[in-house]
Amino acid sequence: VTDIKAERLLADLQTLAGIGGLANGGVDRVAWSAADVAGRRWFAERISEAGLEPHVDAALNVFGHCPGAVGPFVLTGSHLDSVPNGGRLDGAYGAIAALEVLRTLSEANDPLADRVEIVGFSDEEGVRFSVGLIGSLALCGDLNFERTADLSDSEGTPIDAVLAQAGREFGRLQDAAQHLSALAGFLELHIEQGPRMDAAGISLAVVSGIVGVHRERVRLTGTQNHAGTTPFPLRHDAGRAASRTAAQLRELVEGIDANAVANIGVMRFAPGGVNIVPGEADFTLELRHPDEIIVRRIVQAFEERLRTICDQDGCSAEIELLSWVPPARMDPGMSDITAAACDAVGQQPPRLWSGAGHDAAVLSRHVPTGMIFVPSIGGISHAPSESTADEHLVLGARALLQAVKRAAAQIK
Ligand SMILES: [Zn+2]
Repeated sequence: VTDIKAERLLADLQTLAGIGGLANGGVDRVAWSAADVAGRRWFAERISEAGLEPHVDAALNVFGHCPGAVGPFVLTGSHLDSVPNGGRLDGAYGAIAALEVLRTLSEANDPLADRVEIVGFSDEEGVRFSVGLIGSLALCGDLNFERTADLSDSEGTPIDAVLAQAGREFGRLQDAAQHLSALAGFLELHIEQGPRMDAAGISLAVVSGIVGVHRERVRLTGTQNHAGTTPFPLRHDAGRAASRTAAQLRELVEGIDANAVANIGVMRFAPGGVNIVPGEADFTLELRHPDEIIVRRIVQAFEERLRTICDQDGCSAEIELLSWVPPARMDPGMSDITAAACDAVGQQPPRLWSGAGHDAAVLSRHVPTGMIFVPSIGGISHAPSESTADEHLVLGARALLQAVKRAAAQIK
């Protein structure tokens, strides 16, 4: 029976973790940084070393397939970039496992190998330019080029200069989409990045979908005044209105749907002084749920509550939509394939919704897409201590091999 080589998989994960590796065990391979580019070069070299053909596209997505193969392919992989001071498995695990799967099929001279392509995507995390998923969006022709062209990173370096440093032209990013027609499906293996599987002792899970994410900014206006001479009843305190809204958020959301989550991650008062009643306040709101209707219901309830609080505190509110990423449902056929693959390695996987975004959400709008999760120890991710037991890393890659074989066999 053909199977992956566990030691080679774990050794490659270890080596990649050393590129942009930190003394605390974490990694720093922020999109298109020197370390990220070095990681991509290393990944392409592993593809060549395995007798496969590497290809780096206009977005610096790294692909690999059997020499001469033209598709249609089942694509499998994940992203190679990380958050700053991040973990060694987020993204990297799915890319390395994909490499191990194709190496295994190729070494076994399995004819299905010609129908498989692997990928290490660019800038999934979106920390550098606050966009995210740039590599998979470019591949799918879904990137908003006008909006992306104006982006700069926190050091003020524009995105075209960043790409030029990495050897690519921003103006040619569209070229990445030429490859989409060669793809017949996508499979992504990823760490869960949450505590559910670890807490329940589950080794593998089939992802049924990826939550929708709503982001907005709320600006409150009251009256700036002297904090010593203005009695409470006469204040129009924008800071108090913002804080009351934030404090009531959790109960409001829980009252509508126990599976929804919300976050207020940024809040500012202006002008900001120990003896000044804030005349202005603003904060961001993020909401996540698998069902668009529930997200809308929460947004509406939130806005009603905000209006009530503003009336009580004599303030006015303005809301700006920052982004809306709709929920992405995985393909039922691909979910059956991933479930059968988990079964083939001795697991009965539950179906879970992903609370984190993934490249699979982008691909799912174009080709049949499926995802497999392995547990994250303690549910920790986007941190240097992010970890998964070796046994689970190996099991996940074995399940991916089974899923890829099944999906490739179905390509007409
Ligand atoms: Zn990821």
